[in-house]
Amino acid sequence: MPVHHKSQNRTTSSPENHRWGNLYQLSHLKKIAIISILIALGIGLALVNPLKSINTGRFVSNSVSQESDSPLETLRERSQSSQPFKSVPALYDAPEQASNSKVGRPLSEAEKQAIAQILRVNPPATPPLRFEQTPKFILHDTSGELSDEAIYNLTQQSRGPLGLGIAAFVSRDGKVTLARSFFDPRRPTATVYEKSADILSETARNQEIRRVWQSTEALLKQATLNQAVAGLNLNVSLVNRAAIWLNAPSERAFEAMRSQTNLDGGKTTGIWAISNICDNVLMDRDRAVRMASSPQTAKTLQTSCQKLNSVLSETRKRVASSVHVEINQMRGSECYTSNAQVRAYNAQVAASARIGANSIVPLQTWDRPAYTDEQYQKIALLYLQSALIAGQFPEITTHYWVDQGKFGKIGTHCDPRGFNLTRLYQEISLYLGNPPEMRYGIEPRYGLHPEKGDNVWWLEAALDELPPSAL
Ligand SMILES: [Zn+2]
Repeated sequence: MPVHHKSQNRTTSSPENHRWGNLYQLSHLKKIAIISILIALGIGLALVNPLKSINTGRFVSNSVSQESDSPLETLRERSQSSQPFKSVPALYDAPEQASNSKVGRPLSEAEKQAIAQILRVNPPATPPLRFEQTPKFILHDTSGELSDEAIYNLTQQSRGPLGLGIAAFVSRDGKVTLARSFFDPRRPTATVYEKSADILSETARNQEIRRVWQSTEALLKQATLNQAVAGLNLNVSLVNRAAIWLNAPSERAFEAMRSQTNLDGGKTTGIWAISNICDNVLMDRDRAVRMASSPQTAKTLQTSCQKLNSVLSETRKRVASSVHVEINQMRGSECYTSNAQVRAYNAQVAASARIGANSIVPLQTWDRPAYTDEQYQKIALLYLQSALIAGQFPEITTHYWVDQGKFGKIGTHCDPRGFNLTRLYQEISLYLGNPPEMRYGIEPRYGLHPEKGDNVWWLEAALDELPPSAL
């Protein structure tokens, strides 16, 4: 769907010509104003791009190939993200500094050397990335066993705002497939946490986004969308896809369109554009007036941007400081915790969607834990890789905890189900020669009540064993 312009002259000229044709018809003052805003957007983008280049797959070890996948869950929740802006040192988000926790601590020179040696890469020659908060290493399970081929195909689709926000997949045999660079700021979100729904619900956010869009001057809209995808070199019309999302009368209407045509990446791109528009709108009142589609919409533009400001900037921050790892795992009985729940679910869905056993399904054969030794080992290596890139020890956490615990119940995911976080910490300590009780993330609490602090989903009927004792 083409973006609507205020002026005519649409039939013969290219979109580029439209932009400047429109510009020509504006008053001289408004022209100057818009040109300066376009320049500012360009500078913003130039500031963003170096981050991207720092962050592209520097520490890929031989055992790791360049691809990715995603499970049912991430397919469901692919969404928006935003471009990062200036970063401040992580000190502002002081992590817990328990003596047995490495979370948020900078890597010493000796640790950098040791990790580089373990990964068989050169120690980083560039300064570590800068974060606005302690970086997170977020674990997921695929909730459906994926073949290597399926993983490969998914990773091929994950570029910029396209595909999934996952950085790496770990198969049951320990094969690691990389999908994106670690701490990639220009990617879709992979959790509700990254959508910052604890600050503003997704529905309310989308309403405000559309208000901003409707209140913005047409030429600026087109230019901002073009800027949002500049430098990505993706061979799809993200600008059109984003415009379709932003122009849709409602989310439901957009979903109906999405079921008919591929609109992947449109939402994420649209959110990047709105972030840039609001950053400019909020600079001063005069600027808001100049950017508005008419004098009457300037107030709406400003008010909606004020409502969106904290959620969009938080999303930017969270996306830029998170790495997602998917652990290949069978579907089992999803997040259900009783046979009655499984039966109730099965009664509501088509036969093809039903959970086979009509009861809780174990996430393992009876002589095997839910995850393999190779998976624990490779996840430990991926964590070390993320630490080397970050220049500090990221906080290992679970999708379950960020979406249902720490920030309230903002999502529904429970993965990675039955993951032994205690054991992962021990694997990392073994590599680094640290005491086995050292932690690299949340203090594990296994159970089914995130509202009471359980941060790793653990159902004995699905795992056939008691949870590991916490460290
Ligand atoms: Zn997940």
